[in-house]
Amino acid sequence: MTNLLEYLPPVRGKIEAHVPLQNMTYLHVGGDAEVFFEPADSDDLIHFLRKHPAAVPITVLGAGSNVLVRDGGIPGVVIHLGDWFKRIFKEGTTFEVGAGALVANFAENAAQQDVSGFEFLSTIPGTMGGCILMNAGCFGRSIKDILLEMEAVDFQGRMHWMPAQKIGLTYRKSSIPNDWIILRAWVCGSVLASGLVLRCMAELRAARAAYQPTGCYTAGSAFKNPEGKNAWELISAVGLRGARQGRASISEKHANFLLNDDNATAEDLESLGETIRNKVQQKTGIDLEWEIVRLGTRTPTVTDWAQVIGQGSILRGGV
Ligand SMILES: Cc1cc2nc3c(=O)[nH]c(=O)nc-3n(C[C@H](O)[C@H](O)[C@H](O)COP(=O)(O)OP(=O)(O)OC[C@H]3O[C@@H](n4cnc5c(N)ncnc54)[C@H](O)[C@@H]3O)c2cc1C
Repeated sequence: MTNLLEYLPPVRGKIEAHVPLQNMTYLHVGGDAEVFFEPADSDDLIHFLRKHPAAVPITVLGAGSNVLVRDGGIPGVVIHLGDWFKRIFKEGTTFEVGAGALVANFAENAAQQDVSGFEFLSTIPGTMGGCILMNAGCFGRSIKDILLEMEAVDFQGRMHWMPAQKIGLTYRKSSIPNDWIILRAWVCGSVLASGLVLRCMAELRAARAAYQPTGCYTAGSAFKNPEGKNAWELISAVGLRGARQGRASISEKHANFLLNDDNATAEDLESLGETIRNKVQQKTGIDLEWEIVRLGTRTPTVTDWAQVIGQGSILRGGV
């Protein structure tokens, strides 16, 4: 057995082998990252990407609010953007937001300065990078409505700048290539009367607490809403609201939320999700599409990196 760390370039940030990811995701399940890398800054990240062997798979983890890490963990390197990537700069009503910044913190920051337009973000638990990739949204607004431009680096260390119109932002989807890591975004709002933005945000948070489960391990909506339908209504209609499988369950309050309410495994949650998909398919003919991004392998894998790197094969994680 070989240790992947031996084949990776030296970095200034934090890099470790076999790091548990359970507590880094909102579902609190899953195995280890084979290697976990938190770059010191963008130069450190770019240097790593330019020098790492191309055969080593890379997975990006944001706040972990929309992922299910499988029980076997994630082979290769998991990259997480730490403090340096959380910086926020303001110029007028335009903000430069680091991809690692939590969008709720950013929305609060903007509201304190009476800049409006980002209130919906105050109820979403992800980072700016994760939210752009997923075109996250709620209350009738999404990232598409506020994004001007973004900067990314690809897995070979090449930089890319993209105006929002070219990112293909549609419902919970973007056309950003899966070997890009978003680094920064520029978003634009407008000025409102003093205190109004904070009040509006408080109302949105209260509205959300009324219809979604809170204080539990979940990744938000498990499935995308099919065209013209609500996933939660379809799941309720096939009688699965509140159903359990293994130690996972479907929320009574919002039938599109999978819950880890009793030390569930990733397998419990994923099989329950597949049960939902099968039953909805059988009874309605509709194929529900996972919104949760499932990462890694069901059982632990042992890779002979010397051989893989020698052969130059390329692996990718995530569906
Ligand atoms: C309680 C709850 C409520 C939620 N409500 C909503 C909602 O109302 N609307 C909504 O849209 N979503 C909602 N979500 C889902 C989630 O918050 C969003 O999808 C969010 O955009 C995920 O961001 P993240 O940083 O947590 O990304 P992660 O979950 O860590 O990752 C999601 C995907 O983004 C990729 N990614 C992350 N960072 C980057 C980066 N810098 N560059 C490239 N790729 C990256 C990952 O590889 C992965 O494929 C909710 C989740 C929870 C737990």
